[in-house]
Amino acid sequence: MIKAVLLDVDNTLLDFNKSASETIKSAFKELGIKYSADILDVFLRVNDTLWHRIEKKELTREELHRIRWSIIFDELGITADGHEMEGLFLSRLENFAIPVDGAIDILKYLSAKYKLYTASNAPYAQQVKRLTLSGMIPYIEKILNFGNQGINKPQKRFFEECLNAVSPAKKEEVAIIGDSLSADIAGGKSIGITTVWFNRTGEKPVFGLCDYTIEKLSDVKNIL
Ligand SMILES: [Mg+2]
Repeated sequence: MIKAVLLDVDNTLLDFNKSASETIKSAFKELGIKYSADILDVFLRVNDTLWHRIEKKELTREELHRIRWSIIFDELGITADGHEMEGLFLSRLENFAIPVDGAIDILKYLSAKYKLYTASNAPYAQQVKRLTLSGMIPYIEKILNFGNQGINKPQKRFFEECLNAVSPAKKEEVAIIGDSLSADIAGGKSIGITTVWFNRTGEKPVFGLCDYTIEKLSDVKNIL
């Protein structure tokens, strides 16, 4: 029987794509760079690639911050200081916390039945600010983040740390809900907790990869 639920944050509770788009617009305005729709696409693709490399331990988060916007500006043919943009992006992203459709409602529902914990690789302080801004913090028992120790999803160690932090800690009593097959679901599987994949973009499901698949957050009510 499930007693605790781990929740991914970006693109599970908070709409990272919308928040990133607003952040980029705001930073570009400051830097005097013209914003166009293709910039978000390039950002999301480069950002995804870099985060997957962090998941595979080929890259550190510090390296991501050092190279992310230089790569994006190069690809877009924009002459601007990637380092300055990264600073603006990081400091402003925490001001945009746009919930995924139904996120607050599902937090209300789940928190009445289970203890809830966020489990994310993004910087801790940024998570606190964004979860507070979006009104989600009252539903969350604890924000779990081990990036400062170099421990990130999908490492088994990340999930072991989560079980240590969660009370009760038996794996049979814990579930994870997340949008990333490589980070949330593969990681959850590695330690044997119940996995719920939030297939928010309507990807073709892969059989046997997760215990449950949902396409909208309200579908969680059919499972938990
Ligand atoms: Mg996510």
